[in-house]
Amino acid sequence: QSLIEGNRLSKVYATATGPLVALDNVSFGIEEGEFISLVGPSGCGKSTLLSILGGLEEKSDGTLVLAGKHHDAPRPDLGMMFQTSVLFSWRTIRENVKLPGIILGLDRKQQAERCDELLDMVGLNGFGDRYPDELSGGMRQRVALARLLAHDPRVLLMDEPFGALDEFTRETMNNELLRIWEKTGKTVVFVTHNVGEAVFLSDRIFVMTPRPGRLEGIIDVDLPRP
Ligand code: ADP
Ligand code: ADP
Repeated sequence: QSLIEGNRLSKVYATATGPLVALDNVSFGIEEGEFISLVGPSGCGKSTLLSILGGLEEKSDGTLVLAGKHHDAPRPDLGMMFQTSVLFSWRTIRENVKLPGIILGLDRKQQAERCDELLDMVGLNGFGDRYPDELSGGMRQRVALARLLAHDPRVLLMDEPFGALDEFTRETMNNELLRIWEKTGKTVVFVTHNVGEAVFLSDRIFVMTPRPGRLEGIIDVDLPRP
């Protein structure tokens, strides 16, 4: 059995002009440790699918099983990250990173140690006592990446996490993400509309088509990683 199994997932939004089918019968399996990209033009349902995986949106139909359990309540084994990350501006970087662990009731001392390790891992060593407003967009996404890893989720759900950054910073962040992924063995589902990025990052690419959003095909990427 796959770590994540979607079976005939559909999503219909109620809109002012009537029902809008954002996902139509999408089925797939994702194995533990895989790096998957969701690719397709704007509006094809990538964010919708990711939000359903993360429990932010309810599916209209179909089944979703995660690690053998039907996926209804919020799950601490999932972590999500978006294109722009909301950081608490009145809290230091360290406090921002520790927050999810504290909310989940994890050991505070352990979270503090882990926080410093994570800031190291994302290249923010020495920035723990700064405030978000003092950091560039790229550095804020590094904070968000550290925060994503803070409660050690098994699955990382990332919606164009570096899409708002300049090309150079984005490539740097993509390389760092791959390094972290290789080191931690996490399962990643990564949304992008950039095919080059998906090929660079992924084991497999799920290609989606718009209106209604369908899974058009799955591409196995068989390229050596840097
Ligand atoms: P993508 O991430 O591929 O750009 P989305 O999942 O954001 O696609 O959107 C898929 C379709 O669903 C689009 O037509 C979009 O307008 C619509 N949609 C997304 N979210 C909502 C919502 N909350 N209410 C109504 N329609 C939505
Ligand atoms: P485009 O179609 O926008 O010219 P490319 O196919 O050259 O794009 O690459 C698109 C994206 O893929 C880059 O912005 C980057 O995110 C990622 N990428 C491609 N090659 C590399 C690389 N060698 N190192 C890091 N990221 C890469």
